[in-house]
Amino acid sequence: MKYVCNICSAEYPVDTLRYRCQCGGLFSLEYEKKEDMDFSVSARSLWRFSSMLPPLSKDVIDKVTMQEGGTPLISLGENLEGKAEYFMPTLSFKDRGAAVLVSLMSQIGISHCAVDSSGNAGTSVAAYCARAGIGCDVFVPSRTSDKKICQIKAHGACVHEVEGSREFTTQKTIEFVESNQVFYASHIFNPFFYEGTKTYIYELYESYGKSLPDIIILPVGNGTLFLGASIALEEMLHRDMIDSIPLIVAVQAENCAPVAHAHLHDLTHVEKIETCDTAAEGIASALPLRGDQILAHLRKNGGIVVTVSEQQIVEAHKALAMMGLFVEITSAANYAGYLKLISLREEYGNRKAVIPLCGAGLKSVH
Ligand SMILES: [Zn+2]
Repeated sequence: MKYVCNICSAEYPVDTLRYRCQCGGLFSLEYEKKEDMDFSVSARSLWRFSSMLPPLSKDVIDKVTMQEGGTPLISLGENLEGKAEYFMPTLSFKDRGAAVLVSLMSQIGISHCAVDSSGNAGTSVAAYCARAGIGCDVFVPSRTSDKKICQIKAHGACVHEVEGSREFTTQKTIEFVESNQVFYASHIFNPFFYEGTKTYIYELYESYGKSLPDIIILPVGNGTLFLGASIALEEMLHRDMIDSIPLIVAVQAENCAPVAHAHLHDLTHVEKIETCDTAAEGIASALPLRGDQILAHLRKNGGIVVTVSEQQIVEAHKALAMMGLFVEITSAANYAGYLKLISLREEYGNRKAVIPLCGAGLKSVH
């Protein structure tokens, strides 16, 4: 296993404290991938798909896991299902990435880490670090919901509330990481996190009888789920597990849509947008650090982007609650995205689609 720089192709061992290349490039993870997915593994957690994940010690996995994954599909209409990611140990899909990343950290002997987050990833990393006996500092924007901050503190992590933008929170975290020489458990920089979120797609593949729905809707802020899902889909295509990649629909909030802007205007790079004022805090990223990579996967796989207004998000949130599902406001953006998609292209309403219900509603109630 090794990290490879996406600009200069320099290689680094996975036990490095570096979180990006000396040239400034971001890391990809390379390891020997197995030919086939092994469906005989009996685990009910995401480790059921360990044949498709980086080689980590079973002892470490057994110590760190909280049986994350295996989330249910819930019908939201004739052709739409929601994958209920709030059925996770810390109530959000981020546990997929944190379980894999903290397992790595445990394996390479990390004793302390720092992470920045709009809330859910910080909660998830804090919880898994508590389990693994790893110290943890979590940096969050000061507007992060009290419930999330309370949850992070409960796991023994030290919380730093940062005034200003999400990007400024990242900058403060990097200063802390560099001056204290601790491991940066970033769900954006560290590729092990995307290895975990890959399992979202593998689980769908198994649920749909070794096939996939026609339309896969994914939220895009920093792209944690989107990137993992894209890598998984490309791996499956490469292994001939699927004939083609389903229609990928990336959802952004209209008020914070740098990827949509770049895609629409045929730009090569995702540019920072000035304001980023959306209730969907989980996807409020004015400049996703892996934006260019998100754009490249989207184009390579023929995906599209849909943006949703604040009003559409609020209405979708209410509509889901009236179906019995109280989700985080960010998750409602996915449903709003689906509704907008089928209003623009009626024929998509006749195809099988899945949205992720990324987090539990109580996390973001003020
Ligand atoms: Zn480099």
